[in-house]
Amino acid sequence: MTMTTGIQTYLNYIGGKWVPASTGEVEASINPANRHDVVGYVQISGRDDLEKAVAAAKNALSFWRKRSGPERGEFLHRMANILERRADEIAKTMTREMGKTLPEAKGETARGVALLRYYAGEGMRKVGDVIPSTDSGGLMFTTRVPLGVVGVITPWNFPVAIPLWKMAPALAYGNTVVFKPAEEAAVTATKLVECMEEAGLPAGVVNLVMGSGLVIGQGIVDHPDISGITFTGSNEVGRRVGQRAVARGAKYQLEMGGKNPVIVLEDADLDRAVEATVSGGLRTSGQKCTATSRVFVQGAVYDPFKEKLLSRVKEIQVGDGMDPRTWMGPLVSEEQLQRVLSYIRKGVEEGATLLCGGRRLEEGHLKDGFFVEPTVFEDVTPDMTIAREEIFGPVLALIRVETLEEALRLANDVPYGLSASIFTRDIGNMLSFIDEVDAGLVRVNAETAGVELQAPFGGMKQSSSHSREQGRAAIEFFTSIKTVFVKG
Ligand code: NAD
Repeated sequence: MTMTTGIQTYLNYIGGKWVPASTGEVEASINPANRHDVVGYVQISGRDDLEKAVAAAKNALSFWRKRSGPERGEFLHRMANILERRADEIAKTMTREMGKTLPEAKGETARGVALLRYYAGEGMRKVGDVIPSTDSGGLMFTTRVPLGVVGVITPWNFPVAIPLWKMAPALAYGNTVVFKPAEEAAVTATKLVECMEEAGLPAGVVNLVMGSGLVIGQGIVDHPDISGITFTGSNEVGRRVGQRAVARGAKYQLEMGGKNPVIVLEDADLDRAVEATVSGGLRTSGQKCTATSRVFVQGAVYDPFKEKLLSRVKEIQVGDGMDPRTWMGPLVSEEQLQRVLSYIRKGVEEGATLLCGGRRLEEGHLKDGFFVEPTVFEDVTPDMTIAREEIFGPVLALIRVETLEEALRLANDVPYGLSASIFTRDIGNMLSFIDEVDAGLVRVNAETAGVELQAPFGGMKQSSSHSREQGRAAIEFFTSIKTVFVKG
């Protein structure tokens, strides 16, 4: 990296070297809590940079795939230790660059360390099975080989965990990587790659190319030397990534949006349901793919639930994520703020009742950031835009229902299926929900959320493509199976 006027410029990492983009262009990555605070200048790369990164990854492949699993695991162990040592600094960079509160950023960084350790161990686990052959003189077994060069395209909302839950298994199973982080979180991405370099990753095994989605992201998707693309981001972009990957026969993995429901039945522990709805819906300012968005509450407990929810939401401290008093930070950008405000306006125009929030926060120093009030609507009908589209902001829609069947029918009546929760004490209701809800991440008496890193993560319907991330499931995307028959 280089320094200009006291603000660092962060470089691409290609073939084991930190290099500026061939375009000579950089852009400022700014603090969403204070637009005047430039976190760093990041590269706007061009196709030449991508070509070099792909060539470096292709070149490193034969070396890296021939390392043993345990040897590749050793590298991930070293990286975990370095990330752990730098956790505080990296969490602070994350908060400053994309706005989530510092405790959330620390939690995410700790998860990154744990992910690296999990996949380090993966280098020692079995990769195939022996299958009995009818030929008594033969040996039949499966083994796995790496995909090749993998393109890793990530969003800004989990700028440590998501790149690592893609890159750690990619590396453990012998692939090399071209990594394109979101423009809004490119400084944080650079720090991850610094940890890899310090851990002694051979040149070319991971290559970082910053830049726009259209030039670098799409360039990765279309590149004939990239065998697989793992993408997390919006549905709109994900769909395009999938179509283009299919068109050239590349393997792909997509994790996209959600419109995650919570169902609160009349026998629920209401305090617990309120706490989980607030946390699931408003942490990270609602900018999580698993964020609670629609809350279906059974008639008998609708009013008490609403009262408890509103009094809890009104206590929320909004501010700079660095401030220990802050519970909810800013939205990531002016564009994201305007998007969320326009959804709130649409909610009002289409006839929903605004119970609290709804405004941009501009008092005092908040005017320099992208803050919005935590917002709750009621009288939301299933056809309204705020009941159907992913808002990706701190906005909850309360919907009164009479029965579990009605709640399930409405919960499932969207094209998404990522995470879903129910609050009830009745085992029969729990089992019906587990069986019938359209969601890849099903939660009972717990907030809508991701899962622990050793378990498969992913959704149904338009939230995800077929293969799962995290845990052992990741092996399906990052390797190909060979079925071998040996005749002695
Ligand atoms: P986005 O789709 O705008 O961008 C994601 C990444 O794709 C970025 O790196 C971007 O530069 C790149 N990109 C943009 N256009 C591209 C193109 N044409 N071809 C290839 N790459 C392109 O998403 P975002 O705003 O960064 O993130 C928010 C979205 O991510 C939300 O919809 C959220 O639900 C989703 N998300 C999903 C998960 C999950 O695991 N399901 C997790 C986090 C976020």
